[in-house]
Amino acid sequence: MDEKQDLLDMTYEELSEAFSRMGFQSFRAKQVYNWLYSGQLNFDEMTNLPKEMRSTLSEKFVAGGLKIANKLVSKIDGTRKYLFELRDGNIIESVLMKYRYGYSACLSTQVGCRMGCTFCASAPLGLVRNLTVGEMLGQLLSIAHDIGDRISHVVLMGIGEPFDNYDNVMTFLRRINREDTLNISFRKMTISTCGIVPRILDFAHEGIPVNLSVSLHAPNDEVRRQTMPVARRWPYDELLAACRKYAEITSRRVTYEYSLINGVNDLPEYAEMLASKLKGTLCHVNLIPVNKVEGTNYDKGSRQRIETFKQILEKARIAVTVRRELGSDIMAACGQLRRNTLIETGRCSV
Ligand code: SAH
Repeated sequence: MDEKQDLLDMTYEELSEAFSRMGFQSFRAKQVYNWLYSGQLNFDEMTNLPKEMRSTLSEKFVAGGLKIANKLVSKIDGTRKYLFELRDGNIIESVLMKYRYGYSACLSTQVGCRMGCTFCASAPLGLVRNLTVGEMLGQLLSIAHDIGDRISHVVLMGIGEPFDNYDNVMTFLRRINREDTLNISFRKMTISTCGIVPRILDFAHEGIPVNLSVSLHAPNDEVRRQTMPVARRWPYDELLAACRKYAEITSRRVTYEYSLINGVNDLPEYAEMLASKLKGTLCHVNLIPVNKVEGTNYDKGSRQRIETFKQILEKARIAVTVRRELGSDIMAACGQLRRNTLIETGRCSV
């Protein structure tokens, strides 16, 4: 990585101090800050700055340092998938979805992931490194700039485990909530975790009303351990207890993600078991027909099978939805574009 400092890694106060050390007039910090959070990350385009200052900024700093390496737009529903190249050459991906209530960006939190879930496209590639605050912001701001519109919702469900990069993720969420940045309400942010129990408890005490999704994908330890190595570290009941504690402390319901894999975790008896485990807790279950990933034998079950699973939960009065599939023509399922690109460019073989 080059030696340039990332302005998106800095708070307003840090940026302002760096500028004053360089002898820029004090109002310049505010101007640059406003440009950055309006999505303009190219110093040359910051038209109200003197030319000389623009070139000094380009020599000394970057803003996120991300380049759009590829972009796919779904012909079916307009979902956009971005492949970003980072300053050190690593690549990550992000997805933009359009809903009735606005745009939602699904961002990556790490280059790769070390959690090893067997159905996931990113797992075989392992973890390379954590993303910086500036790189998470860079994804969001680059996308907002690309579409020329405001993004109202942020979900951390891209590549990586957000709770494995806890401090940067918390800083990022607090940053985009600030009125002088993007002013995104905490209630419109969602973190998804594979179930790192101590972090769920830490998160409960952060005092920020961000939504929590927990990737459950099973009704018990035996089934969960088949696909999620993290389940060996923290038993199912401990995980549910942490989620209950989270709901108790924050008064917010937890969403349980359940990707249905034909013949593996989608048996009707598993729906019964799940219902009995979740009964009486403040929660919502989101069923996701699994996205087929090359190199795995997993596939989604029939529509009927999915419906049966859903009805059993409904009968037990558990709030349940089936996630709509978006961008199915552009590999919008997380991690697939990065993985295929790495394979095509000969940078990996799995
Ligand atoms: N590491 C975090 C967030 C990233 S993955 C987590 O585990 O929650 C976002 C969601 O997509 C998770 O629920 C994950 O289990 C799920 N997922 C990953 N690969 C999938 C696939 N092939 N089909 C369906 N869901 C998948």
